[in-house]
Amino acid sequence: MTERIREFLKTRRERGQDTEPCLVVDLDVVRDNYNAFAKALPDTRVFYAVKANPAPEVLALLARLGSCFDTASIAEIEMVLAAGCTADRISYGNTIKKERDVARAFELGIQLFAVDCKAEVEKIARSAPGSRVFCRILCDCVGAEWPLSRKFGCEPAMAVDVLEHAMKLGLEAYGVSFHVGSQQRNQHAWDRALAQAAAVFKECGERGMNLSMVNLGGGFPTRYLKNVPTVKTYGNAIFKALRKHFGNRIPETIIEPGRGMVGNAGVIETEVVLVSKKSEEDDVRWVYLDIGKFGGLAETMDESIRYPIKTPRDGADTSPCVLAGPTCDSADVMYEKQPYALPVSLEIGDKLLIEGTGAYTATYSSVAFNGFNPLKTYHI
Ligand SMILES: *Cc1c(COP(=O)(O)O)cnc(C)c1O
Repeated sequence: MTERIREFLKTRRERGQDTEPCLVVDLDVVRDNYNAFAKALPDTRVFYAVKANPAPEVLALLARLGSCFDTASIAEIEMVLAAGCTADRISYGNTIKKERDVARAFELGIQLFAVDCKAEVEKIARSAPGSRVFCRILCDCVGAEWPLSRKFGCEPAMAVDVLEHAMKLGLEAYGVSFHVGSQQRNQHAWDRALAQAAAVFKECGERGMNLSMVNLGGGFPTRYLKNVPTVKTYGNAIFKALRKHFGNRIPETIIEPGRGMVGNAGVIETEVVLVSKKSEEDDVRWVYLDIGKFGGLAETMDESIRYPIKTPRDGADTSPCVLAGPTCDSADVMYEKQPYALPVSLEIGDKLLIEGTGAYTATYSSVAFNGFNPLKTYHI
């Protein structure tokens, strides 16, 4: 929570515009985060993962600061170009692309693509000839609060074949990428992944390919309820791991922070719609908010991400509450297995602040499920 967000919400309330939930993002915090990444990893280029928060204001700010961008679709590429970034600072980092989208990206000037299999390499060789490709390898994601599945990446041994195939088809076998899992709270997670990346470099070298780049992915955490290590701590751990596995032939590196760039810059204001119980004897109250899983808080799925919640009655006695959203879908329950302690005096109409919501919220909100509008956003 920042003073600027507090002021903004106060004015909004005074004008009676607070009838629906909203997300407010403080761009000063995004700028500070960018500078912290640039400082902690001075020899690494930052490719902001656009999907975390693609607001034009965020993209324009980062473009101005010199950031590069990791995109996953033509629409994202076009948004980044519209924000004033040039094509040479954009990667098409999704390993799953339609060939006509590869061709369109190439037309727009993009020449850096992610792959994780030979079929994808062939699309790029046909529709973006001569481009640079990096191969994504699988990662176990231990230590991540929002782990990634086996959807992206291949085994390191296969990555060597994929890169060789790329070289034979006239592409530049540029490097290796991985993602250690989102909200990765262990800074040593990069060590194991870098050991595997170094093995791919070595094997490629033996086959006559000199790879240049390691894409260290995202995973940098934002603070929710628990403390997380600083960006500097991550930078040091990564640099040590690079030295350990690559000796004095450290490759070019890039990072793709999403959550760590924008998460702590945003606050959602929501209203308590109902407080009830399922029986008079219950200790647990049900608190229904005007935002839930379908309004932008999709990362509460499996109770993975636990947001800090501030109430106007903090300091009073608390009791456990199940937190749920306003829609008629029974899956729209956010915290139930592990109830959330909220003040006993909490009342219908109270405004709550959900912190750390600058990433993976607004674009996850449904278009009009049950007639609820998509989450309103303000970037100030
Ligand atoms: C989503 C994504 C990121 C960002 O991950 P965070 O955990 O939010 O930092 C980075 N790289 C790729 C390829 C992604 O898909």
